Amino acid sequence: MKTYAIREMFLTIQGEGHHAGSRAVFVRTSGCNVWSGREEDRRRDRARGVCAEWCDTEFRGTDGPGGGRFAAPEIAGRVLDLWAFASSPLVVITGGEPSITIDAELVDALHQIGARVHVETNGSRPLPKSVDWVTLSPKPPMPVFNQRYDEVKVVYPAVDPLRYEGCAAVRFVQPLDHGDRASHVDQCKVFVLGHPGWRLSLQTHKLIGVP
Ligand code: SF4
Repeated sequence: MKTYAIREMFLTIQGEGHHAGSRAVFVRTSGCNVWSGREEDRRRDRARGVCAEWCDTEFRGTDGPGGGRFAAPEIAGRVLDLWAFASSPLVVITGGEPSITIDAELVDALHQIGARVHVETNGSRPLPKSVDWVTLSPKPPMPVFNQRYDEVKVVYPAVDPLRYEGCAAVRFVQPLDHGDRASHVDQCKVFVLGHPGWRLSLQTHKLIGVP
């Protein structure tokens, strides 16, 4: 049976973007097609995507909390256990880069338990069309694959938001959490005040101390 490499799975509160504040089970897939995840490769992998310089996500391997190699029904079962209520689970599949791992079979298994399936992607590869909500966080120079995106979230000022204005109807800038953070927040405020089609996203999970 096919298995999927999962770095970690946990119940939390979505901190960013359109669904910020929502109770959600996060499924973090293992691996990324921008950065290897090794400190010594940051400079090299910067040529693939700007985020290799500052990414702070641990996405290597399968040994995080709730991680492992699981078949699709096992992942769905573990999501139900973590959700722990009779209501429909909200599942956020993130990475690393989930498009290198997930497929329609996994999304189907999650739909079969009544879950809404959200995916956060750098947009470099096609995703199953059945995903319920796609958040694009572009990482140039990695190109963006032409598919449906429900929300675009641009790390600013590392990435130029206006390049991605046409990608989604719901648009956010989010301050780069690296280097001069206060200046990045200020630049986001100035950007949003000057661009009515854009909203401010903050990493509220960091403010409230959840993963
Ligand atoms: S695509 Fe995402 S996980 Fe991969 S290096 Fe960039 S920010 Fe990190």
